[in-house]
Amino acid sequence: MNIILLGPPGAGKGTQAKKISEHFSLPHISTGDILRENISNNTSLGLKAKSYMSRGELVPDELLITIVKDRLSRKDCSEGFMLDGYPRTIPQADALQMILTESGKKLDAVLNISVGDEELVKRLSGRRMCKCGASYHVSFNPPKKDGICDVCKGELYQRDDDKAEAVRNRLDVYKKQTQPLIDYYDKKGVLRTIDGENDIPRIFEDIKEVLEQYE
Ligand SMILES: [Zn+2]
Repeated sequence: MNIILLGPPGAGKGTQAKKISEHFSLPHISTGDILRENISNNTSLGLKAKSYMSRGELVPDELLITIVKDRLSRKDCSEGFMLDGYPRTIPQADALQMILTESGKKLDAVLNISVGDEELVKRLSGRRMCKCGASYHVSFNPPKKDGICDVCKGELYQRDDDKAEAVRNRLDVYKKQTQPLIDYYDKKGVLRTIDGENDIPRIFEDIKEVLEQYE
C-alpha cells in the first residue's frame, strides 16, 4: 500500500510512523531524514540542499522531487511506502502524482492524525529543560519535585520555542500550509482522518483498522 502521513507537531506522528512501518513492513520515507543524512555525508545532494538551508531558504521543489523520485524507485518501495514530510504544498502533491502515475503506482490513503489546538498547546508547551540536558514534561513526565531536576537538582526552565504563544504561532503556520493539502486529498477521496487525542495504542488501533483494507 502507498500512503502519506500527515499531522501537526505534537500529534505523535513519529511514534505512529514507527508502529505503522513495523506492523505493515512499509518503508518509512521521511524527506527530512533523507536531507539530514545527505548533508551529514556531504553527498552532492546534501551540498546542494545545504547551500539553500544555510541561506535560510527552503529547499526548492525540483530538488525535493528528485529525492522523492529516487527514493520511491528503490526496491524496498515496490510493495508500498509511507511518505512523511512530503508533500507539503499542492505543487508538490501534483509532482508526486506525476511520479506515481509514471511508475504505474497509485496513492491509497492520506492518514491525517488530527488533534485540537488546545490539546496540542498543552502537549507542546509542557516541556521543561535543565542545564544538565535532562528534559521533562509537566503532564507526561514530571520531575519528582516541581520545577527541580531529578538528576542534578538544578532549576528547570522553559525554552522560548515551547512557550504557549510560540507554540500557537507554529501551529498557525502548520495549519496555513497544510489545510489546502488536506482539502486537496479530501476532494480526491483518499483522506482518512484519525482522532489523535486518544492514547497511543488506541490511535494505532484506529490506524490499523483503516489501513488493513489496503493490504
Ligand atoms: Zn539537571
